[in-house]
Amino acid sequence: MFPDLPGPPLDTRTLLFATAMVSFVMAAFTASVARSMPEQARGLRLWTLANSAAGVAFLLYFLRGHIPFGLSFVGANVAVTAVPALFLHAQARLLGATPRRRLSRWAVGLAALSVLPALIDPHLGWLGAVVVSSAIATLAAAIAHLMWTDPQARTLASSRFVGLAAAFAAAAVAWRAGSSAWRAVQGMSFDIHATAPAHTISLLLGGLFLVAASVSFMSTVHELSRRAISERARRDGLTGVLTRTAFYDEARQRLAAQPDLRYAVAMIDVDHFKRINDGHGHAAGDQAIVHLAREVSTNARVGDLVGRYGGEEFIVLLDGADLGAAHRFGQRLVESVRQSAVRLPNGLSLSCTVSAGVAEGLPARAAGSLDLEQTIALADAALYVAKAQGRDRVSSALDNNGLHSASA
Ligand code: GH3
Ligand code: MG
Ligand code: MG
Repeated sequence: MFPDLPGPPLDTRTLLFATAMVSFVMAAFTASVARSMPEQARGLRLWTLANSAAGVAFLLYFLRGHIPFGLSFVGANVAVTAVPALFLHAQARLLGATPRRRLSRWAVGLAALSVLPALIDPHLGWLGAVVVSSAIATLAAAIAHLMWTDPQARTLASSRFVGLAAAFAAAAVAWRAGSSAWRAVQGMSFDIHATAPAHTISLLLGGLFLVAASVSFMSTVHELSRRAISERARRDGLTGVLTRTAFYDEARQRLAAQPDLRYAVAMIDVDHFKRINDGHGHAAGDQAIVHLAREVSTNARVGDLVGRYGGEEFIVLLDGADLGAAHRFGQRLVESVRQSAVRLPNGLSLSCTVSAGVAEGLPARAAGSLDLEQTIALADAALYVAKAQGRDRVSSALDNNGLHSASA
Protein backbone atom coordinates (compact mmCIF):
# COMPACT_ATOMS: atom_id res chain seq x y z
CA MET A 1 0.00 0.00 0.00
CA PHE A 2 3.02 2.32 0.27
CA PRO A 3 4.67 1.36 -3.03
CA ASP A 4 6.85 4.45 -3.59
CA LEU A 5 8.65 4.57 -0.27
CA PRO A 6 12.37 3.78 -0.33
CA GLY A 7 13.78 0.89 1.68
CA PRO A 8 12.20 -2.48 2.35
CA PRO A 9 8.47 -2.75 1.57
CA LEU A 10 6.19 -1.35 4.27
CA ASP A 11 3.11 -3.46 3.89
CA THR A 12 -0.13 -3.44 5.81
CA ARG A 13 0.07 -7.02 7.03
CA THR A 14 3.51 -6.54 8.57
CA LEU A 15 2.31 -3.36 10.27
CA LEU A 16 -0.78 -5.12 11.64
CA PHE A 17 1.37 -7.98 12.92
CA ALA A 18 3.90 -5.59 14.47
CA THR A 19 1.14 -3.57 16.18
CA ALA A 20 -0.37 -6.78 17.58
CA MET A 21 3.02 -7.77 18.98
CA VAL A 22 3.63 -4.30 20.46
CA SER A 23 0.21 -4.51 22.16
CA PHE A 24 1.03 -7.90 23.66
CA VAL A 25 4.42 -6.67 24.88
CA MET A 26 2.77 -3.65 26.51
CA ALA A 27 0.18 -5.95 28.09
CA ALA A 28 2.97 -8.12 29.53
CA PHE A 29 4.78 -5.00 30.77
CA THR A 30 1.73 -3.50 32.54
CA ALA A 31 0.88 -6.92 34.01
CA SER A 32 4.33 -7.15 35.56
CA VAL A 33 4.22 -3.53 36.82
CA ALA A 34 0.82 -4.26 38.43
CA ARG A 35 2.49 -6.86 40.64
CA SER A 36 4.86 -4.33 42.14
CA MET A 37 2.32 -1.49 42.54
CA PRO A 38 -0.51 -2.85 44.65
CA GLU A 39 -2.23 0.54 44.97
CA GLN A 40 -2.56 0.96 41.22
CA ALA A 41 -2.92 -2.76 40.49
CA ARG A 42 -6.60 -2.66 39.48
CA GLY A 43 -6.13 0.15 36.99
CA LEU A 44 -3.00 -1.52 35.61
CA ARG A 45 -4.76 -4.88 35.22
CA LEU A 46 -7.57 -3.23 33.26
CA TRP A 47 -4.92 -1.56 31.13
CA THR A 48 -3.31 -4.98 30.58
CA LEU A 49 -6.70 -6.30 29.42
CA ALA A 50 -7.12 -3.32 27.07
CA ASN A 51 -3.71 -3.96 25.50
CA SER A 52 -4.46 -7.68 25.24
CA ALA A 53 -7.77 -6.91 23.50
CA ALA A 54 -5.87 -4.63 21.12
CA GLY A 55 -3.33 -7.40 20.46
CA VAL A 56 -6.15 -9.86 19.70
CA ALA A 57 -7.93 -7.38 17.42
CA PHE A 58 -4.79 -6.62 15.38
CA LEU A 59 -3.85 -10.30 15.23
CA LEU A 60 -7.32 -11.20 13.91
CA TYR A 61 -7.12 -8.44 11.28
CA PHE A 62 -3.69 -9.80 10.35
CA LEU A 63 -5.00 -13.38 10.09
CA ARG A 64 -7.97 -12.44 7.88
CA GLY A 65 -7.99 -14.85 4.96
CA HIS A 66 -6.16 -17.54 6.92
CA ILE A 67 -8.79 -18.27 9.56
CA PRO A 68 -12.59 -18.57 9.20
CA PHE A 69 -13.94 -15.17 8.14
CA GLY A 70 -16.65 -15.15 10.82
CA LEU A 71 -14.04 -15.51 13.58
CA SER A 72 -11.79 -12.80 12.26
CA PHE A 73 -14.62 -10.36 11.44
CA VAL A 74 -16.69 -10.72 14.61
CA GLY A 75 -13.71 -11.29 16.92
CA ALA A 76 -11.71 -8.33 15.64
CA ASN A 77 -14.65 -5.93 15.79
CA VAL A 78 -15.68 -6.94 19.32
CA ALA A 79 -12.06 -6.86 20.54
CA VAL A 80 -11.39 -3.45 18.98
CA THR A 81 -14.51 -1.98 20.64
CA ALA A 82 -13.48 -3.48 23.98
CA VAL A 83 -10.16 -1.58 23.79
CA PRO A 84 -11.49 1.96 24.45
CA ALA A 85 -14.08 0.54 26.89
CA LEU A 86 -11.27 -1.02 28.95
CA PHE A 87 -9.07 2.08 28.60
CA LEU A 88 -11.92 4.22 29.92
CA HIS A 89 -12.47 1.85 32.82
CA ALA A 90 -8.73 1.70 33.64
CA GLN A 91 -8.35 5.51 33.59
CA ALA A 92 -11.43 5.91 35.81
CA ARG A 93 -10.01 3.35 38.29
CA LEU A 94 -6.69 5.08 38.38
CA LEU A 95 -8.26 8.48 39.01
CA GLY A 96 -10.81 7.18 41.50
CA ALA A 97 -13.68 8.31 39.21
CA THR A 98 -16.88 6.34 38.72
CA PRO A 99 -16.40 3.82 35.92
CA ARG A 100 -19.05 4.19 33.19
CA ARG A 101 -19.87 0.52 33.06
CA ARG A 102 -23.27 0.90 31.42
CA LEU A 103 -21.87 2.95 28.54
CA SER A 104 -19.14 0.36 27.98
CA ARG A 105 -21.55 -2.58 28.08
CA TRP A 106 -23.93 -0.93 25.61
CA ALA A 107 -21.09 0.01 23.28
CA VAL A 108 -19.50 -3.45 23.19
CA GLY A 109 -22.88 -5.26 23.14
CA LEU A 110 -24.26 -3.21 20.24
CA ALA A 111 -20.98 -3.57 18.33
CA ALA A 112 -21.13 -7.37 18.73
CA LEU A 113 -24.75 -7.52 17.56
CA SER A 114 -24.21 -5.18 14.64
CA VAL A 115 -21.55 -7.33 12.96
CA LEU A 116 -23.63 -10.54 13.03
CA PRO A 117 -25.95 -9.77 10.03
CA ALA A 118 -22.86 -9.53 7.78
CA LEU A 119 -22.18 -13.21 8.42
CA ILE A 120 -25.46 -14.03 6.68
CA ASP A 121 -25.41 -11.33 4.03
CA PRO A 122 -22.01 -9.61 3.43
CA HIS A 123 -23.88 -6.60 1.96
CA LEU A 124 -24.98 -5.79 5.50
CA GLY A 125 -21.36 -5.19 6.50
CA TRP A 126 -22.01 -1.43 6.49
CA LEU A 127 -24.18 -1.85 9.63
CA GLY A 128 -21.23 -3.25 11.60
CA ALA A 129 -18.90 -0.55 10.26
CA VAL A 130 -21.29 2.23 11.32
CA VAL A 131 -22.14 0.81 14.76
CA VAL A 132 -18.61 -0.31 15.69
CA SER A 133 -17.12 3.04 14.63
CA SER A 134 -19.84 4.97 16.49
CA ALA A 135 -19.29 2.88 19.62
CA ILE A 136 -15.52 3.48 19.52
CA ALA A 137 -16.01 7.21 18.84
CA THR A 138 -18.40 7.50 21.80
CA LEU A 139 -16.01 5.68 24.14
CA ALA A 140 -13.04 7.75 22.95
CA ALA A 141 -15.08 10.91 23.54
CA ALA A 142 -15.88 9.65 27.05
CA ILE A 143 -12.13 9.19 27.69
CA ALA A 144 -11.45 12.76 26.49
CA HIS A 145 -14.29 14.04 28.70
CA LEU A 146 -12.92 12.18 31.74
CA MET A 147 -9.39 13.49 31.20
CA TRP A 148 -10.57 17.09 30.87
CA THR A 149 -13.19 17.22 33.61
CA ASP A 150 -12.00 14.90 36.39
CA PRO A 151 -10.59 17.09 39.21
CA GLN A 152 -7.64 14.75 39.81
CA ALA A 153 -6.93 14.33 36.08
CA ARG A 154 -6.82 18.11 35.66
CA THR A 155 -3.82 18.28 37.97
CA LEU A 156 -1.83 15.72 35.93
CA ALA A 157 0.50 16.79 33.15
CA SER A 158 -0.32 13.78 30.95
CA SER A 159 -4.10 14.26 31.04
CA ARG A 160 -4.25 17.01 28.47
CA PHE A 161 -2.25 14.91 26.04
CA VAL A 162 -4.43 11.82 26.56
CA GLY A 163 -7.57 13.97 26.32
CA LEU A 164 -6.41 15.52 23.05
CA ALA A 165 -5.36 12.17 21.57
CA ALA A 166 -8.70 10.61 22.58
CA ALA A 167 -10.66 13.54 21.14
CA PHE A 168 -8.69 13.24 17.90
CA ALA A 169 -9.35 9.48 17.78
CA ALA A 170 -13.06 10.10 18.51
CA ALA A 171 -13.30 12.60 15.65
CA ALA A 172 -11.44 10.32 13.20
CA VAL A 173 -13.57 7.28 14.02
CA ALA A 174 -16.79 9.33 13.98
CA TRP A 175 -15.82 10.52 10.51
CA ARG A 176 -15.41 6.87 9.49
CA ALA A 177 -18.85 6.01 10.94
CA GLY A 178 -20.35 8.92 9.01
CA SER A 179 -18.71 8.00 5.72
CA SER A 180 -19.83 4.34 6.04
CA ALA A 181 -23.39 5.48 6.76
CA TRP A 182 -23.25 7.88 3.82
CA ARG A 183 -22.11 5.10 1.47
CA ALA A 184 -24.95 2.88 2.71
CA VAL A 185 -27.54 5.61 2.16
CA GLN A 186 -26.20 6.21 -1.34
CA GLY A 187 -26.68 2.50 -2.03
CA MET A 188 -22.97 2.03 -2.71
CA SER A 189 -21.77 -1.52 -2.40
CA PHE A 190 -19.97 -2.44 0.79
CA ASP A 191 -17.31 -5.12 0.46
CA ILE A 192 -16.37 -6.39 3.89
CA HIS A 193 -13.47 -8.39 2.45
CA ALA A 194 -11.74 -5.35 1.03
CA THR A 195 -8.86 -3.68 2.88
CA ALA A 196 -9.51 -0.11 1.86
CA PRO A 197 -6.64 2.37 2.50
CA ALA A 198 -8.89 4.39 4.83
CA HIS A 199 -9.46 1.29 6.91
CA THR A 200 -5.73 0.50 7.09
CA ILE A 201 -4.83 4.07 7.96
CA SER A 202 -7.39 4.16 10.77
CA LEU A 203 -6.06 0.84 12.10
CA LEU A 204 -2.53 2.19 12.08
CA LEU A 205 -3.57 5.46 13.71
CA GLY A 206 -5.32 3.32 16.31
CA GLY A 207 -2.04 1.46 16.87
CA LEU A 208 -0.18 4.73 17.37
CA PHE A 209 -2.86 5.87 19.77
CA LEU A 210 -2.39 2.67 21.78
CA VAL A 211 1.32 3.27 22.21
CA ALA A 212 0.83 6.95 23.10
CA ALA A 213 -1.97 6.09 25.54
CA SER A 214 0.15 3.42 27.22
CA VAL A 215 3.11 5.73 27.67
CA SER A 216 0.93 8.45 29.22
CA PHE A 217 -0.98 5.94 31.34
CA MET A 218 2.32 4.75 32.81
CA SER A 219 3.41 8.32 33.45
CA THR A 220 0.09 8.95 35.24
CA VAL A 221 0.64 5.81 37.35
CA HIS A 222 4.10 7.07 38.21
CA GLU A 223 2.89 10.58 39.06
CA LEU A 224 0.05 9.29 41.26
CA SER A 225 2.29 6.90 43.18
CA ARG A 226 4.89 9.64 43.67
CA ARG A 227 2.14 11.89 45.05
CA ALA A 228 0.83 9.12 47.30
CA ILE A 229 4.31 8.57 48.75
CA SER A 230 4.94 12.24 49.42
CA GLU A 231 1.43 12.64 50.84
CA ARG A 232 2.10 9.72 53.20
CA ALA A 233 5.36 11.33 54.29
CA ARG A 234 3.50 14.57 55.11
CA ARG A 235 1.05 12.79 57.40
CA ASP A 236 1.67 11.59 60.91
CA GLY A 237 1.46 7.80 60.92
CA LEU A 238 -0.61 7.55 64.10
CA THR A 239 -3.15 10.34 63.69
CA GLY A 240 -3.20 11.21 59.99
CA VAL A 241 -2.79 14.96 60.69
CA LEU A 242 0.22 16.85 59.24
CA THR A 243 3.66 16.15 60.67
CA ARG A 244 5.40 19.07 62.31
CA THR A 245 7.65 19.60 59.26
CA ALA A 246 4.72 19.43 56.83
CA PHE A 247 2.74 21.85 59.01
CA TYR A 248 5.56 24.38 58.90
CA ASP A 249 6.01 23.91 55.14
CA GLU A 250 2.32 24.39 54.39
CA ALA A 251 1.87 27.26 56.80
CA ARG A 252 4.91 29.12 55.39
CA GLN A 253 3.76 28.49 51.84
CA ARG A 254 0.29 29.77 52.61
CA LEU A 255 1.53 32.91 54.37
CA ALA A 256 4.00 33.64 51.58
CA ALA A 257 1.25 33.25 48.97
CA GLN A 258 -1.24 35.39 50.94
CA PRO A 259 0.70 38.14 52.74
CA ASP A 260 -2.58 39.83 53.73
CA LEU A 261 -3.99 36.72 55.34
CA ARG A 262 -5.35 37.15 58.83
CA TYR A 263 -4.61 34.05 60.87
CA ALA A 264 -4.18 32.70 64.36
CA VAL A 265 -2.26 29.81 65.85
CA ALA A 266 -3.54 27.43 68.52
CA MET A 267 -1.27 25.13 70.54
CA ILE A 268 -3.02 22.28 72.27
CA ASP A 269 -1.55 19.93 74.90
CA VAL A 270 -3.24 17.05 76.68
CA ASP A 271 -3.52 17.46 80.43
CA HIS A 272 -1.69 14.96 82.63
CA PHE A 273 -1.06 12.68 79.73
CA LYS A 274 1.62 10.80 81.63
CA ARG A 275 -1.11 9.54 83.96
CA ILE A 276 -2.96 8.00 81.02
CA ASN A 277 0.21 6.25 79.87
CA ASP A 278 1.11 5.15 83.39
CA GLY A 279 -2.39 4.05 84.36
CA HIS A 280 -3.56 2.36 81.15
CA GLY A 281 -0.42 1.66 79.14
CA HIS A 282 1.06 3.21 76.01
CA ALA A 283 -1.45 1.57 73.65
CA ALA A 284 -4.27 3.35 75.50
CA GLY A 285 -2.20 6.54 75.36
CA ASP A 286 -1.88 6.17 71.60
CA GLN A 287 -5.63 5.61 71.33
CA ALA A 288 -6.18 8.83 73.27
CA ILE A 289 -3.85 10.73 70.92
CA VAL A 290 -5.80 9.45 67.90
CA HIS A 291 -9.07 10.47 69.56
CA LEU A 292 -7.75 13.95 70.36
CA ALA A 293 -6.42 14.46 66.84
CA ARG A 294 -9.93 13.71 65.60
CA GLU A 295 -11.40 16.18 68.11
CA VAL A 296 -8.98 18.91 66.99
CA SER A 297 -9.67 18.21 63.30
CA THR A 298 -13.45 18.18 63.64
CA ASN A 299 -13.44 21.43 65.62
CA ALA A 300 -11.18 23.11 63.05
CA ARG A 301 -12.56 24.39 59.76
CA VAL A 302 -11.86 23.01 56.29
CA GLY A 303 -9.19 25.58 55.39
CA ASP A 304 -7.31 25.27 58.71
CA LEU A 305 -4.04 23.36 59.00
CA VAL A 306 -3.85 20.76 61.75
CA GLY A 307 -0.49 19.27 62.73
CA ARG A 308 1.00 17.05 65.41
CA TYR A 309 3.57 19.29 67.04
CA GLY A 310 5.07 16.73 69.37
CA GLY A 311 3.98 13.67 71.37
CA GLU A 312 0.54 14.77 72.62
CA GLU A 313 0.70 18.34 71.40
CA PHE A 314 -1.18 19.65 68.41
CA ILE A 315 -0.91 22.88 66.47
CA VAL A 316 -3.58 24.54 64.34
CA LEU A 317 -3.26 27.40 61.89
CA LEU A 318 -6.67 29.04 61.93
CA ASP A 319 -7.14 30.53 58.51
CA GLY A 320 -8.84 33.94 58.51
CA ALA A 321 -9.25 33.98 62.32
CA ASP A 322 -8.60 36.92 64.65
CA LEU A 323 -7.82 36.46 68.35
CA GLY A 324 -11.51 36.32 69.32
CA ALA A 325 -12.29 33.62 66.77
CA ALA A 326 -9.22 31.68 67.87
CA HIS A 327 -10.29 31.92 71.49
CA ARG A 328 -13.77 30.64 70.60
CA PHE A 329 -12.17 27.75 68.72
CA GLY A 330 -10.09 26.93 71.81
CA GLN A 331 -13.17 27.04 74.06
CA ARG A 332 -15.15 24.85 71.70
CA LEU A 333 -12.34 22.31 71.58
CA VAL A 334 -11.71 22.26 75.35
CA GLU A 335 -15.44 21.71 76.00
CA SER A 336 -15.80 19.12 73.28
CA VAL A 337 -12.84 17.09 74.63
CA ARG A 338 -14.13 17.32 78.19
CA GLN A 339 -17.49 15.90 77.11
CA SER A 340 -16.03 13.15 74.94
CA ALA A 341 -14.61 9.79 75.93
CA VAL A 342 -11.78 7.72 74.53
CA ARG A 343 -12.91 4.16 73.87
CA LEU A 344 -10.22 1.65 74.79
CA PRO A 345 -9.86 -1.78 73.15
CA ASN A 346 -10.72 -3.46 76.49
CA GLY A 347 -14.15 -1.81 76.46
CA LEU A 348 -13.33 0.81 79.09
CA SER A 349 -13.72 4.45 78.29
CA LEU A 350 -11.46 7.17 79.45
CA SER A 351 -12.01 10.85 79.84
CA CYS A 352 -9.34 13.49 79.49
CA THR A 353 -8.96 17.22 79.10
CA VAL A 354 -6.76 19.54 77.07
CA SER A 355 -5.34 23.01 77.51
CA ALA A 356 -4.90 25.43 74.64
CA GLY A 357 -3.01 28.63 73.97
CA VAL A 358 -3.93 30.92 71.09
CA ALA A 359 -2.22 33.90 69.45
CA GLU A 360 -3.03 36.05 66.47
CA GLY A 361 -0.43 36.51 63.74
CA LEU A 362 -0.97 39.80 62.00
CA PRO A 363 -0.74 40.00 58.22
CA ALA A 364 2.87 40.18 57.07
CA ARG A 365 2.37 43.67 55.62
CA ALA A 366 0.90 45.14 58.82
CA ALA A 367 3.05 47.35 60.99
CA GLY A 368 4.52 45.44 63.92
CA SER A 369 3.51 42.15 62.31
CA LEU A 370 4.66 38.86 63.77
CA ASP A 371 6.12 36.07 61.77
CA LEU A 372 4.90 32.50 62.09
CA GLU A 373 7.58 31.45 64.59
CA GLN A 374 6.86 34.43 66.85
CA THR A 375 3.13 33.70 66.75
CA ILE A 376 3.76 30.06 67.61
CA ALA A 377 6.01 31.08 70.50
CA LEU A 378 3.26 33.39 71.83
CA ALA A 379 0.63 30.65 71.53
CA ASP A 380 3.00 28.30 73.35
CA ALA A 381 3.51 30.84 76.14
CA ALA A 382 -0.28 31.22 76.38
CA LEU A 383 -0.58 27.42 76.64
CA TYR A 384 1.75 27.45 79.65
CA VAL A 385 -0.42 30.11 81.25
CA ALA A 386 -3.47 27.87 80.74
CA LYS A 387 -1.58 24.98 82.35
CA ALA A 388 -0.43 27.14 85.27
CA GLN A 389 -3.97 28.40 85.86
CA GLY A 390 -5.31 24.90 86.40
CA ARG A 391 -5.53 23.25 82.89
CA ASP A 392 -8.73 22.34 80.97
CA ARG A 393 -8.96 25.88 79.63
CA VAL A 394 -7.82 28.19 76.85
CA SER A 395 -5.58 31.19 77.17
CA SER A 396 -5.04 33.98 74.65
CA ALA A 397 -1.91 35.99 74.00
CA LEU A 398 -3.71 39.33 74.27
CA ASP A 399 -2.70 42.00 71.75
CA ASN A 400 0.53 40.14 71.35
CA ASN A 401 2.02 41.59 74.50
CA GLY A 402 -0.08 40.68 77.50
CA LEU A 403 -1.64 37.30 78.18
CA HIS A 404 -5.29 36.84 78.86
CA SER A 405 -6.67 33.55 80.12
CA ALA A 406 -10.16 32.17 80.38
CA SER A 407 -11.52 28.90 81.58
CA ALA A 408 -13.82 27.34 79.04
P1 GH3 B 1 0.70 18.39 81.43
O1 GH3 B 1 -0.71 18.51 81.85
O2 GH3 B 1 1.59 19.31 82.17
O3 GH3 B 1 0.87 18.52 79.95
O4 GH3 B 1 1.15 16.94 81.86
P2 GH3 B 1 1.60 15.76 80.92
O5 GH3 B 1 1.67 14.54 81.74
O6 GH3 B 1 0.74 15.69 79.73
O7 GH3 B 1 3.06 16.25 80.56
P3 GH3 B 1 3.74 16.35 79.16
O8 GH3 B 1 2.84 17.08 78.21
O9 GH3 B 1 5.09 16.91 79.37
O10 GH3 B 1 3.84 14.80 78.84
C1 GH3 B 1 3.92 14.28 77.59
C2 GH3 B 1 3.96 12.76 77.69
O11 GH3 B 1 3.39 12.20 76.54
C3 GH3 B 1 5.35 12.22 77.76
C4 GH3 B 1 5.33 10.99 76.90
O12 GH3 B 1 5.48 9.84 77.74
C5 GH3 B 1 3.97 10.94 76.31
N1 GH3 B 1 3.98 10.71 74.87
C6 GH3 B 1 4.60 11.48 73.94
N2 GH3 B 1 4.36 10.96 72.70
C7 GH3 B 1 3.60 9.83 72.87
C8 GH3 B 1 3.05 8.86 71.97
O13 GH3 B 1 3.19 8.92 70.75
N3 GH3 B 1 2.31 7.84 72.50
C9 GH3 B 1 2.12 7.75 73.87
N4 GH3 B 1 1.39 6.73 74.33
N5 GH3 B 1 2.64 8.64 74.73
C10 GH3 B 1 3.38 9.68 74.26
MG1 MG C 1 3.25 17.83 76.18
MG1 MG D 1 0.59 17.20 78.33
